[in-house]
Amino acid sequence: MRPSAWFQSVTGDPERYPLSEVLYRCPKTGALLEVVHDLEALRARSAAAWMHLFDERRGGNRWPYGSGVWSKHEWVQPHVEPENIVSLYEGNTNLLWAERYGAQLGMRDLWVKQCGTSHTGSFKDLGMTVLVSSVNQMIADGKPIRAVACASTGDTSAALAAYGAAAGIPVVVLLPRGKVTAAQLIQPLANGALVCALDTDFDGCMRVVQRLTEDPHIYLANSMNSLRVEGQKTISIEIVQQLDWEVPDWVLVPGGNLGNVSAIAKGFSEMKELGLIRRLPRLVCCQAARANPLYQAYRKAQEEGRELREDDFAPVVAGETLASAIRIGAPVSLPKAIKALVATRGVVEQATEQELADAAARADRTGMFTCPHTGVALACLEKLRARGEIRADERAVVISTAHGLKFTEFKAAYHQERLPFPAAHRNAPIELGSEPDEVVADIHRALDRLEV
Ligand SMILES: *Cc1c(COP(=O)(O)O)cnc(C)c1O
Repeated sequence: MRPSAWFQSVTGDPERYPLSEVLYRCPKTGALLEVVHDLEALRARSAAAWMHLFDERRGGNRWPYGSGVWSKHEWVQPHVEPENIVSLYEGNTNLLWAERYGAQLGMRDLWVKQCGTSHTGSFKDLGMTVLVSSVNQMIADGKPIRAVACASTGDTSAALAAYGAAAGIPVVVLLPRGKVTAAQLIQPLANGALVCALDTDFDGCMRVVQRLTEDPHIYLANSMNSLRVEGQKTISIEIVQQLDWEVPDWVLVPGGNLGNVSAIAKGFSEMKELGLIRRLPRLVCCQAARANPLYQAYRKAQEEGRELREDDFAPVVAGETLASAIRIGAPVSLPKAIKALVATRGVVEQATEQELADAAARADRTGMFTCPHTGVALACLEKLRARGEIRADERAVVISTAHGLKFTEFKAAYHQERLPFPAAHRNAPIELGSEPDEVVADIHRALDRLEV
């Protein structure tokens, strides 16, 4: 039996829609859609056989399985033919044992999944290869698609522009003017996308792109489009595979639009359904305190001593944060995220600007080079650890979502003390003359003071 998958409403409405249709919401209820796989067909292969197959494909060069995402082809988008796949061999990122940083928190089993070590420098590549491949398949099938469009806080647009350019498909990106980094702005420009800087925030760009893509010839690439979740969920499969098919106790991920927290839960749930694992890890969704609508909802439910519900939630106007990629006040994937958190006994935590910046800098001192969003996740880890909620002997994985080099302004401001709070782990250059004996003496004096 050939694996197959379809769209279905997250509300559980039984109607199925083909993945080849241009569809972002349930036509009946207007609810979000999700991709549902024919698990019976996938069960035709045993759990052990899937694990063997995935191990055999990993890191090889046989098209398209050398990609971390497409090595899971049957579980992701079985409908796309290999010749229509648009891949830059994304995924297969390092799962780093954070030995020194973990020791500082009294943890021996802390890991950082380096998803930012990717083609466009963020984990958005994982979902974008699936979305652009699906569009490429639709075009091959004769669908008249003129362009693919997205609203973005910077990383989605970089990924869409790269995959669109690789496939020769026109791309339109809508960015909030002045709210993305120089690296994030230059990426879609370099890849030849139509870049529109709008006089609004991300939530405003999201409203415009939904209007723009009411025209069926312009395809919507935001994570509301559930095809992207299928690529992002492979993070979970990779983590378990890299841990020799063992499940961690905790997975922490920074959350903005909340597509990823649900994608990660979906990856683990499907592995459990198909017998590759026996239990789910607990998820922690980590928000910036200035863009924390899910955290506020979670606190409310906690205070009332019950499970998180959708009606706990109220959108906010997201404030300025160093974690600019998660500056979102009205997350589109909220209903999916709530389901994911309830299913995994999840936690929502938040980090202030100072907490995220210090956590990022502290991790950097142990050899990492973290983006501010990863800083949010690390700061939340530190809090959960300090409260004893994450125990010393537990295994935790932090998802690092972007490459630090996309956010050098943040690091420069920290180390040059241009942020409105003291920088605990600041490291500034020392200015010396040119006389060799003096310079050598100065270096020895400085080494005596150096804290490693
Ligand atoms: C998109 C993004 C996130 C958040 O993902 P959501 O699915 O929007 O919650 C976190 N970090 C970085 C770097 C991102 O680009």
